[in-house]
Amino acid sequence: MSTRNQSIFLPILAEKQVELFIKREDEIHPFVSGNKFRKLKYNLQEAKNQSYKTLVTFGGAFSNHIVATAVAGKIMGFKTIGIIRGDELAMNFQQTILENPTLHEAHKNGMTFEFVSREIYRNKTSTIFLEELKQKLGDFYLIPEGGTNELAIRGCEEILVAEDSIFDYICCAVGTGGTISGFINASENHQKVIGFPALKEDFLSSEIEKYAKKSNWELQTNFHFGGYAKYNQTLIRFINDFKKETNVLLDPIYTAKMIFGLLEIIKNDGFQKESKILAIHTGGLQGIQGVNQKLQKNNEEIIH
Ligand SMILES: *Cc1c(COP(=O)(O)O)cnc(C)c1O
Repeated sequence: MSTRNQSIFLPILAEKQVELFIKREDEIHPFVSGNKFRKLKYNLQEAKNQSYKTLVTFGGAFSNHIVATAVAGKIMGFKTIGIIRGDELAMNFQQTILENPTLHEAHKNGMTFEFVSREIYRNKTSTIFLEELKQKLGDFYLIPEGGTNELAIRGCEEILVAEDSIFDYICCAVGTGGTISGFINASENHQKVIGFPALKEDFLSSEIEKYAKKSNWELQTNFHFGGYAKYNQTLIRFINDFKKETNVLLDPIYTAKMIFGLLEIIKNDGFQKESKILAIHTGGLQGIQGVNQKLQKNNEEIIH
């Protein structure tokens, strides 16, 4: 399965004489992040091969990965259980489901939840915690937080196709580093892969080095807007303007930060004339509703 590359027309691109295309992985599914489906593909096959009936994974209350696991798990006939950070969410479950669009969508797709305290969540990969889970839930196939493991990276390698070799640069948003590792492995030697972390972390480079088989990549670390799931009015206005100009809707957690950063670099002559750039729209659009709820509460401009 491959998605289309959309040509982007903006005055700044013409002025700097660079070409920008966006690969529309967001079109794989209306709510589910394209890259999260890619990351799950071989994991779910492996779970089937090993005859598991249940998938267990972790995430925050607005996680794209949680929804993707619920939807993909349902399609493939698995029972899915999400271990969710924040035990306060369990106190009034009905209200949580009503108010939280991410958990609502996951719930609608059959996922059940275990809400745990932040402290327990921090130790979620400890042997003791996982043993306790097995006692309670029975045997399961475990998918890590954010879905990143070797099989996930293999799935992400398939996002780039032979025709994409015409590009000089491949750009993407970075969370755990799994998706960019797939791009690095699938890239050609004449290409450079540029990652835009959506969070403030210094462990990312070493995570990517664990999985990436090549060194033709770099991280642009100045565009996280304060950290994971942080944003400001500049970013929200940018999303709305970009939508108006290109008809591409970006998400505020990942892809908007990447495209914002990329256009800043272009403005500052960071790319040679005639450069061909491919930016990957990894999806994440399901997260907009949750962000809009918060913006609305503060009487601020929402994403539309
Ligand atoms: C999770 C996610 C990413 C980051 O992927 P990683 O493999 O964790 O680096 C990028 N974009 C979107 C929309 C995502 O949901």
